Amino acid sequence: MPASAESLIAEVPAFAAHARTATLLRPSEGAPGVRDSSVGGPLLWPEDEPWPVCRAPHAVRVHEKLTDDERDAWQRIDRAVKERRRLNPGRAYELTAEEVLVQQQIMAGASALDMVTWERMRWAQDASGPGVPMVPVLQLYARDAPAAVPWPEGADVLQMLWCPTEHSDPPGQPRYWGPMVTLRYRSSSRVVGAVPDPPRPDRADDCYLPRPCVLAPVEVTDLPDQDEVPEDLHAEGERWAEDHDVEYHRDLACRPGWKAGGWPSWHLTDLMAIDCTCGARMRLFLTVDSSHDGPDVSVGRHGELRVFTCPADPAHPIRLNIQ
Ligand SMILES: [Zn+2]
Ligand SMILES: [Zn+2]
Repeated sequence: MPASAESLIAEVPAFAAHARTATLLRPSEGAPGVRDSSVGGPLLWPEDEPWPVCRAPHAVRVHEKLTDDERDAWQRIDRAVKERRRLNPGRAYELTAEEVLVQQQIMAGASALDMVTWERMRWAQDASGPGVPMVPVLQLYARDAPAAVPWPEGADVLQMLWCPTEHSDPPGQPRYWGPMVTLRYRSSSRVVGAVPDPPRPDRADDCYLPRPCVLAPVEVTDLPDQDEVPEDLHAEGERWAEDHDVEYHRDLACRPGWKAGGWPSWHLTDLMAIDCTCGARMRLFLTVDSSHDGPDVSVGRHGELRVFTCPADPAHPIRLNIQ
């Protein structure tokens, strides 16, 4: 029997209570149609249904040219720092308290300085404009993920779209930086006739425009991260994994890549409780993974974007988290 979460559960039945079904989506470049599950492909969309538009404030980069005086002051400090270092090679490059203050005044709260163009760069919230049309990210038919998605009565298509730009702490998403996400469920038999061409967003970050991909879904059993199982049980899982030449994390638990359902990995932060406005602990629903092949999207610092939904009522607002 190959080493998998199922074989671990067969030998250590206490893991059964922590197992979840996940569908690994395994996208690869292709030419999906509206009746296919896809990443970045065409969505089965009713002709008379308005296309979703993001009206949340957008984080935009603002560039500000330094004045000549500011640039001169910055260069003067640079020269002074280098000169002190030349006279005392044993020491690090050091700024005096006064120089730090001058630099802070020049930066004026900006996050970066381009020393080629001599521009400060800051992020600002832009709530103007007519809104940004969202782009298709994922379409999933129930036949491809029957168990990993809690399909509402009558629905057999799940669609995920996002606004392909940056948002900083958008409404309902505290401590979040990334694209805004919306989900749609529909019944494929009710969509008849032509599918409209979606509007193109007038602004988009390339890393948020997925290349069209077909899916090769495979259903697996997924186990939770270390922080979400009792300590002694996790230790037993680690021992078992070592005996079977696999890693507990990623081979048996928190399976990587694009997936529906399963368990989230908490490799960058400790476990973060994500609770719904109703008080229920939310559950991992979809994972978008960064990659250079396949969809070629990048979220966070080449990380994973996770969509959480409320197990008490799927109509409650989703929560987004990036690791
Ligand atoms: Zn937006
Ligand atoms: Zn809820």
